[in-house]
Amino acid sequence: MQNARLPNGQIINAYEYDRLIHGDKIYCCYCKAEVIYVGIGNRNNVPFFRTTGRNKSVHEDYCPEKRQIKQIKTLKALNKYTVDINKANLNDFHVIKVDFSNNDIARIPHGEISEISKNNSKKRLNYTLSYSNRKNCLVRRITSLATIAKILQQNTPEQLRKIALDIGGKMVPINQLVIEQNKAYEISKTGNFYLPWFIVYGKVRSVVKLNKIMFINFDEQDGLKPFAAYIFSGYYKYFTYTKEQLEGKHILVQGNIKFNEKYNKAEIQVMCNNQLYIMK
Ligand SMILES: [Zn+2]
Repeated sequence: MQNARLPNGQIINAYEYDRLIHGDKIYCCYCKAEVIYVGIGNRNNVPFFRTTGRNKSVHEDYCPEKRQIKQIKTLKALNKYTVDINKANLNDFHVIKVDFSNNDIARIPHGEISEISKNNSKKRLNYTLSYSNRKNCLVRRITSLATIAKILQQNTPEQLRKIALDIGGKMVPINQLVIEQNKAYEISKTGNFYLPWFIVYGKVRSVVKLNKIMFINFDEQDGLKPFAAYIFSGYYKYFTYTKEQLEGKHILVQGNIKFNEKYNKAEIQVMCNNQLYIMK
């Protein structure tokens, strides 16, 4: 958040805030949750206010800062189910192949993604489409973030439970591919990369474009761990989203995640527009 409320009701911007003058009792402008000030530092280049997720420092459900969009609510509900697809009968699932190789630019310069060739027998699965008779949105193949967003938009958690995603021959439920930033933090910190790449969802707090690198910083309200997408300037010609388009928006971002030891945060490298999707 860029603004907070002082005990006297005055609204203050993070750039104007001075602890010695304003004190450290500061609140969310809308729901009066206690917030803290985060100054410019190594990790962030824009000052801001945030809730910590502890004690009274959590936004109320009605607070606009907590506004959740449908796709994210659905994913959170889906997290309540734990399905080990590898132990389940695949016939009970609607299998959708996920192939993001059209984000070609993402693989050429790095070549780190080990992809099983399309002819590999591991990719061929005998499955029946026992998933109910809904036709509206259950595709057989996903090649874009827009399709992921659409599936999350149009299906209930109960329906999504019945989907198995085939990523290079590995079967996972949708909520193990599309993850929140805290999970991205944990996976990258522990090195438990069970997939070659992930899709991380979150709300953009700030976008900072410098000469050599651009950062898309995720929101850190209510105990969310720091997470950022970054784009090197060499890719600016393929990545054309602007600060105005992204700030305050809920997005999906796809790519390799890694842990930045120095700044204790998880990061994802983005090289082209296909790797980011703005959810409505
Ligand atoms: Zn609030």
